[in-house]
Amino acid sequence: MTASPSTEIAFDVRASADPVPPAERERVLASPGFGEVFTDHMVTLHWTRERGWHDGLVQPYGPLMLEPATAVFHYAQEIFEGLKAYRQGGGPIVAFRPSANAARFKRSAARLAMPELPEAAFLRSIELLVSQDRDWVPTAEGHSLYLRPFMIATQRGLGVNHPSSSYQYTVIASPAAAYFKGGVRPVSVWLSEDYTRAAPGGTGEAKCGGNYAAAFAGQIQAVESGCDQVVWLDAVERRWVEEMGGMNLFFVYGSGPGARIMTPALTGTMLPGITRDSLLKLGPDLGFPTEEDRISADQWREECASGELTEVFACGTAAVITPVGKVKSADGEWMIGDGTPGPVTMRLREELAGIQYGQRPDPYGWVHKIC
Ligand SMILES: *Cc1c(COP(=O)(O)O)cnc(C)c1O
Repeated sequence: MTASPSTEIAFDVRASADPVPPAERERVLASPGFGEVFTDHMVTLHWTRERGWHDGLVQPYGPLMLEPATAVFHYAQEIFEGLKAYRQGGGPIVAFRPSANAARFKRSAARLAMPELPEAAFLRSIELLVSQDRDWVPTAEGHSLYLRPFMIATQRGLGVNHPSSSYQYTVIASPAAAYFKGGVRPVSVWLSEDYTRAAPGGTGEAKCGGNYAAAFAGQIQAVESGCDQVVWLDAVERRWVEEMGGMNLFFVYGSGPGARIMTPALTGTMLPGITRDSLLKLGPDLGFPTEEDRISADQWREECASGELTEVFACGTAAVITPVGKVKSADGEWMIGDGTPGPVTMRLREELAGIQYGQRPDPYGWVHKIC
């Protein structure tokens, strides 16, 4: 994309006069958790019909002032993204495929009838925030700086017949350890039969907060059933496996040199994960043929029993790759393999993390240097 000077979106920088003291920051970075502590700055940018995108600002992290009648609080016109900045062993700080997040943010905006943010402005906002708060990018292995761009409807008023006439785009950042505590412990999953996540024609392929609000009841049921995570089936036939919580699923068939991997094809009700897309490209390079197909809950059970299906894992930016060890539904439960992380899962995980942390070649140019 060539941005002409007249359409380029500018950001001013107003540095915090009161940043977190270095000793305190180091204490947080030693054990950052996930999404609990935020860096010294945030980026904000506004949109109105008359002015388009304007007033880009890197400013101290802090509360937003919004009237109770602001549209987002009532009709959930909100979208978000999630990506990470990695410190590559003593070298540069990089982001992983941020253009893919920028493109998805545009698609989510279109679905929620919100203005599209140009890719150049999305990338610039990420670069500015990470550069400003570079001391917050952890150095420990497996740690990263999680970036959360989001957009909210800011028009004041309760009229329901039209989308908001104004919006605020914001980026915040939070140092992150591995998402699921305890590293690569396999998770157990609950097949939800009472709830669905997304229906054809709905917002399933947009990354919007409303999808998550609608998913919590299913996740609570999973935990009440003794499982870590919920797995969603399609809303029409209640048969085809779609996603696990906020992550895409992969199924490994066979083992050794005969192993191949399958992920449910995107039908419009699944979130098109960038991790998913990356693994579809990396799989064949590592000797694992990949396919996009579908699998029913019954097949999942039968193919585990027959030994054809050897490993299952979930993938997403936050937790990278998480093995699935056990499945439970209203009418029974079963193990996947022996319930421990499988070799194909771990090989893919190692390769992807290796590219992100600069220990492996980056054949597709996914790594984007920030500073
Ligand atoms: C964000 C998200 C994913 C994973 O996407 P990545 O781009 O790989 O992080 C999968 N499913 C849902 C529902 C999501 O919101």
